Amino acid sequence: MNEIVQKKELAPDIDEYVINAPLVASKCLSGQFVVLRLHEEGERIPITIADFDRDTGFLTLVIQEVGKTTMEMGTMKEGDVLSDVIGPLGRESKISKIGTMVAVGGGIGIPAVHPIARAFKEAGSAVISVLGARNKELLIWEERMRSFSDKISITTDDGSYGKKGFVTDALKELIDSGTKIDQVTAIGPAIMMKMVSEVTRPKGIKTVVSLNSLMLDATGMCGVCRVEVGGKTKFACVDGPEFDGHEVNFDILMSRLTMYLPEEKESVEAYRKKLSSGK
Ligand SMILES: Cc1cc2nc3c(=O)[nH]c(=O)nc-3n(C[C@H](O)[C@H](O)[C@H](O)COP(=O)(O)OP(=O)(O)OC[C@H]3O[C@@H](n4cnc5c(N)ncnc54)[C@H](O)[C@@H]3O)c2cc1C
Repeated sequence: MNEIVQKKELAPDIDEYVINAPLVASKCLSGQFVVLRLHEEGERIPITIADFDRDTGFLTLVIQEVGKTTMEMGTMKEGDVLSDVIGPLGRESKISKIGTMVAVGGGIGIPAVHPIARAFKEAGSAVISVLGARNKELLIWEERMRSFSDKISITTDDGSYGKKGFVTDALKELIDSGTKIDQVTAIGPAIMMKMVSEVTRPKGIKTVVSLNSLMLDATGMCGVCRVEVGGKTKFACVDGPEFDGHEVNFDILMSRLTMYLPEEKESVEAYRKKLSSGK
């Protein structure tokens, strides 16, 4: 169990992993996540379940190397075994047949929105996907999203692929064209989810976001992942990760995300030193 059965590089520092975790795969639903521990002394990192297959017992995770543990994960190979894959965690997405669901995915948020958008499609809704990345090289899982989307728009910040601009520009265009949208689900960087919520707010379009707050135990006990939603404190791990985007206090979320930057930087430097000394 927990063996990496397949690893594929999708973009620089972004890898797709297929993990043998049959107990998690048998129970998980779209919108949920797992907590990984690479080895017994490793820290716990929350990662969204990007895909799952109950028959094989495999989970697909897409991980971007941004800090010490994700960098260490990047050194793992097919055949290596993770110490723990804990889950499924978090509440599942509320899926139903609606008229049109718009799935907005930014960067590494694209694989996270994938199972939710697909579940809406399977429930009988029309799905429009709006995908964005900094550039063409960083745009991942386009084909997977295209396979079930009725329509797809792509933006890149630098214009190297699709339309030049942000996902919010494509979303605004869609709204202005008069397309009737019943729900937007947006997953990506906090600033992207905040801006998407601001675009939909004046039109009163239901907007669901999935919060990437810092997490520790992921069981609702430690309080590290607390977020403010509708003026109340919620725990992203057990009350979320999905919340009403119009109610989320994104400024608090973004400021909490940077709380441990000096420590995270120190940890990356220590890890690099350890790697270069070969110990
Ligand atoms: C629910 C959730 C689950 C996550 N799960 C994982 C996971 O499984 N694995 C993992 O490694 N990390 C995960 N993360 C971490 C997080 O998504 C990444 O750290 C983050 O997306 C950085 O990606 P990027 O550098 O590609 O973003 P950027 O390149 O900075 O942005 C991507 C896109 O967002 C849009 N955007 C950026 N800024 C703005 C703006 N000001 N206004 C409007 N649009 C903007 C643009 O379209 C841009 O192309 C998760 C995050 C969330 C929210």
